[in-house]
Amino acid sequence: MQGKIIIFSAPSGAGKTTIVKHLLSINPQLSFSISACTRDKRGRSEENGKDYYFITPEDFKMKIGNDEFVEWEEVYEGAFYGTLKSEIERIWKSGKHVILDVDVKGGLSIKNFYKERALAIFVKPPSIEELAKRLTARNTDSTSSISSRVFKAKFEMGFEDQFDRIIVNDDLNKACTEAEKLVNQFLSAEPAIV
Ligand code: ADP
Ligand code: 5GP
Repeated sequence: MQGKIIIFSAPSGAGKTTIVKHLLSINPQLSFSISACTRDKRGRSEENGKDYYFITPEDFKMKIGNDEFVEWEEVYEGAFYGTLKSEIERIWKSGKHVILDVDVKGGLSIKNFYKERALAIFVKPPSIEELAKRLTARNTDSTSSISSRVFKAKFEMGFEDQFDRIIVNDDLNKACTEAEKLVNQFLSAEPAIV
């Protein structure tokens, strides 16, 4: 089997983590690619090596120097996130397909790197106002962090046309069903020749 990669990108708060978790819970062929990042762990709700590899800015720079990333971004000021080549290889070697959620620029970089082997899905919030509400209700970020996420979202919405598929996440159940359909279609298609 040739491993494939499914990318979910969206402005923060649009619902990509929720949709990716749903897909992981129903599809044993999928495995989540854990990114490296330099931000602090969120209290007890996150675990090192499960949600992210939480590393220091020095380690992150060293990995950039060693060409260990497929892509990396300073997603928010002072907070670096990157997709490790070793993670993708680990998952493919285990006989599974990769699923990941990354910011919009990172998603397009991964699509460009893996081409037909990758499906890039943009999760679109119904509106910026709804996005701000969801981020506030999620209760994981400070007011200033929410403001910078909303500010960035306005810019990120301009990239949706560059993705293979767009899912509007208005009704979560519908969005999850649509995601299941797109993933199943992509995984059952003939392996791409790369
Ligand atoms: P992201 O990973 O894109 O930052 P999350 O998956 O964390 O977004 O979702 C942001 C918040 O919005 C979470 O609290 C989640 O439970 C909630 N959420 C997700 N989808 C919907 C939806 N369709 N309607 C209302 N709330 C939603
Ligand atoms: P959070 O801090 O809320 O977990 O994530 C912030 C943003 O970073 C989200 O949009 C998330 O998708 C993105 N992100 C997570 N991992 C990566 C990665 O490896 N590369 C890039 N470019 N973005 C990532």
